[in-house]
Amino acid sequence: MTPEELESCPFCEGREDKTPPEVLSLPSGGRSPDTPGWLVRVVPNKYPAFEHHEVVIHSPEHKRSLAELDRSQLELIAEAWQLRAGAARDAGYPHVFAWVNEGRTAGASLGHSHSQLVWLTEEPPLAAAERAAGGCSVCDYIRSERESGERVVDERNGLILLCPYAGRAPYECLVAPLDHEADPFTSDRLGVGLEHAAQALRRIHALEGPRPANLWLHESGHWHLEFLPRLTVFASVELGAGIYVNTLAPEAAARALRD
Ligand SMILES: [Zn+2]
Ligand SMILES: [Zn+2]
Ligand SMILES: [Zn+2]
Repeated sequence: MTPEELESCPFCEGREDKTPPEVLSLPSGGRSPDTPGWLVRVVPNKYPAFEHHEVVIHSPEHKRSLAELDRSQLELIAEAWQLRAGAARDAGYPHVFAWVNEGRTAGASLGHSHSQLVWLTEEPPLAAAERAAGGCSVCDYIRSERESGERVVDERNGLILLCPYAGRAPYECLVAPLDHEADPFTSDRLGVGLEHAAQALRRIHALEGPRPANLWLHESGHWHLEFLPRLTVFASVELGAGIYVNTLAPEAAARALRD
């Protein structure tokens, strides 16, 4: 991290005037808006790409990764996502897409850990496609992965972390509730889900050094987090042919993350 990054960061506590006014902060109550004393803060995106596009600032201190956040902080982030999804639904937007970009090459324009939320009237196409198969493909998938076990990294607090069979990149991970659960925004497991992802990221940082990463939430059907550390660059064969050349077998990735 450069001194310039720290000096100019609009997300650090004390620089509340550098962002648009907050729409939510946690813990709630006990302070005036847009003043220090928050742990998680949600503001409209200053450069929105969507009509309702918000930024969730993950920490008052300058942390660069989910991997640096503890369980209680991750729970607050989950709570912020849930409260804002509730606001979106009340306003007539049934879908919220939530994601984290970490590192410039993964699309993050600022180093300070944050997530983004967009309110949508329609389900995003990739999430809709996953659901289109009928039944619950996630339940089926978890059942078969548990049978083989090779790609399972961890099972804890009713959630599973695994490296998917058709992983697109080294250490791609999926986190999902073991039992069918449709709505992450009313689930008490969403924070634990983020903790699973943060734990995987800590292991990846230990194995490979800090790496950019993308993480997103698929919020309908059987909710899950998909998480792609970016050790490789997607090029023509991935983008044009839809063929992902994964240089690390998911079984080997799962083994490395377990050990
Ligand atoms: Zn900062
Ligand atoms: Zn299911
Ligand atoms: Zn998905």
